[in-house]
Amino acid sequence: MFDNYQFTASERFMRYVQVDTQSDPQSNTHPTSEKQKNLSKILAEELKQIGVADAEMDEYGYVYGTIPANTEKKVPVICFCAHVDTAPDASGTGVKPILHKKYNGQDIVLPDDKNQVLRKSDFPYLQNLVGHDIITASGTTLLGSDDKAGVAEIMDAANFLITHPEVKHGTIKILFTPDEEVGKGTAKVDLQKLGADYGYTLDGGEAGSLEDETFSADAVQLVINGVITHPGYAKGKMVNALKIAADVLASLPRAELSPETTDGKQGFIHPIRVDGIAEKATIDFIIRDFVTEGLKKKEDFLLGVVEMVMENYPTANFQFNVQEQYRNMKEVLYQHPRVVEHAKEAITRSGLKVKMESIRGGTDGSRLSFMGLPCPNLFAAEQAIHSKLEFISVQDMNKAVETIVHLAKIWEEKA
Ligand SMILES: [Zn+2]
Repeated sequence: MFDNYQFTASERFMRYVQVDTQSDPQSNTHPTSEKQKNLSKILAEELKQIGVADAEMDEYGYVYGTIPANTEKKVPVICFCAHVDTAPDASGTGVKPILHKKYNGQDIVLPDDKNQVLRKSDFPYLQNLVGHDIITASGTTLLGSDDKAGVAEIMDAANFLITHPEVKHGTIKILFTPDEEVGKGTAKVDLQKLGADYGYTLDGGEAGSLEDETFSADAVQLVINGVITHPGYAKGKMVNALKIAADVLASLPRAELSPETTDGKQGFIHPIRVDGIAEKATIDFIIRDFVTEGLKKKEDFLLGVVEMVMENYPTANFQFNVQEQYRNMKEVLYQHPRVVEHAKEAITRSGLKVKMESIRGGTDGSRLSFMGLPCPNLFAAEQAIHSKLEFISVQDMNKAVETIVHLAKIWEEKA
């Protein structure tokens, strides 16, 4: 199907990464940084050039577009989604992408900072890329493959579908979002307007990887009310909230249930902030697990620790407030098995091995899934993200394009 196709993903990618789209965690505007629209505008324009007639950017920097169905069958509407912003962790200003043709397995020294060296010993995935063309930044900025790789791949897949009308598909929706890196990627998304039944984010790593699981997440705020008196006349009366807070923290398990001592499918209880004065102290926790029941267990455990500590301070009191943050997308995807099944099939048809992964964090896909758009995460081939050593293989990117096209085709075939 792709034998004579001139892929455009890497060429697009090299252009998109030069547009600074860093999002801003301190901002309360939408988008959080106006400059993200610079890329969104280009994308809406290029989509129109490709033939996506209704492509448009809205006031918040979201880009929407439709590739009309070319089949008589009734096929669910599928959306492909990627985010335009880059992470605040490293500069995204003046990105100079460099194409290293036919990677030979040697170290790659980045020219603008010779201390930035890409080594196979640090990034074992490079072993798979010998013979590939690799794109890196120049040493002083991130590259922005997270997620301009996903953006470029979706653009190229749209180009392929429109120039190959013999490949049958249902209605395909394209969605580019701002602010994913600061947790606000779905804040202003209009799912009504999008009108899709199922979605796929293209924001994953290794070629062939597919993520259908994320953490489930709650926040807990513990408020401790001590008893305050003049310190000179405090004997037998004062209860210092700071000391209670310290006792609570000291009573948390260290060897388990902590981010620093867990991995894989294990969850944790993680204190992230302490505020207080002698009279009143608060501790903010985040709780993570892959199953909602596991969250509840950890919260009960934490409450038990707090109650045990508080027994020593009968005149003090506390509040324990649990707030839902997001849920494992699997809870939704489980009810729509076709979404992941078709993705596996598409990856296989692209000649890759499916690698199922779970994300120890949340994604826009987890939020979208619970907003009514079941949405696993497909590989976009991005590597060493959020760092100056970011790299990506051109051949892997093209595989992502193939996977998107196969997916569109499979949904039509199986309808
Ligand atoms: Zn991303």
